[in-house]
Amino acid sequence: MEDCIFCKIINGEIPSRKVYEDDTFYAFEDIAPVAPVHVLVIPKKHVKSIAALTEADGDVAGKMLFALRTVAEKLGLAEDGYRVVFNTGEKAGQTVHHMHAHILGGKEMAWPGV
Ligand code: 5GP
Ligand code: ZN
Repeated sequence: MEDCIFCKIINGEIPSRKVYEDDTFYAFEDIAPVAPVHVLVIPKKHVKSIAALTEADGDVAGKMLFALRTVAEKLGLAEDGYRVVFNTGEKAGQTVHHMHAHILGGKEMAWPGV
């Protein structure tokens, strides 16, 4: 999608530090990390947010948790644990309107964190 920074990252127009890629997903380091490990996992298909998912996105939605697990394992977070965050919509602080999951790890985290 034009003017979507994450679509531009997927197609290489904007550089990123890739940590994982398959046919459906792309994962890269967040430019402003809030934890020692902070990676974003995005579907290659432009979907605005969880709120905008339709039946046609069932394949992407269904595969995304497995992709998150794969990336977390690749980052060495599987044993100690990690947090997955999907900011969805304005009040939740979603600033990029291409659905993405934050994988956060590498430190003790407090909960609740809202
Ligand atoms: P949101 O606030 O929408 O949940 O998260 C968007 C995230 O994208 C933020 O954590 C922000 O630091 C990250 N981000 C925004 N622009 C870029 C960019 O150009 N490159 C990378 N690697 N991360 C970005
Ligand atoms: Zn996009």
